[in-house]
Amino acid sequence: MMDTIFGKIARGEIPADIVYEDEDVVAFRDLHPQAPIHILVIPRKPIRTLNDLEAADAELVGRLFLAARKVAEREGIAAAGYRTVINCNAAAGQTVFHLHLHLLGGRPLRWPPG
Ligand code: AMP
Repeated sequence: MMDTIFGKIARGEIPADIVYEDEDVVAFRDLHPQAPIHILVIPRKPIRTLNDLEAADAELVGRLFLAARKVAEREGIAAAGYRTVINCNAAAGQTVFHLHLHLLGGRPLRWPPG
């Protein structure tokens, strides 16, 4: 698959404001935050979109959410509330084709998002 900017961040080839990382997952602050807390949680494995997930990725997806939960706690937004979003393909606004989970919080979030 084609490399992306998130692949480079996961490999430490370009800088990012990393707030959490482990063997499988990296989390870093979004460059253009849409909320006071806006963090992207990505698998190190380069999966293009949610459509490309395979059964073998089930545990990895669980790890993404566990990392999001941990980061939300660390950032102090767990109790107040936060949102997780995965955009899939162009109509949903996906611009970077390396699966990523947006973690948003730190202010009241409108629903539906529009
Ligand atoms: P999406 O629209 O769901 O594909 O989200 C891509 C997100 O990546 C956007 O919110 C961008 O602001 C963010 N972004 C793009 N490049 C970088 C980067 N180098 N470091 C951090 N965030 C980035």
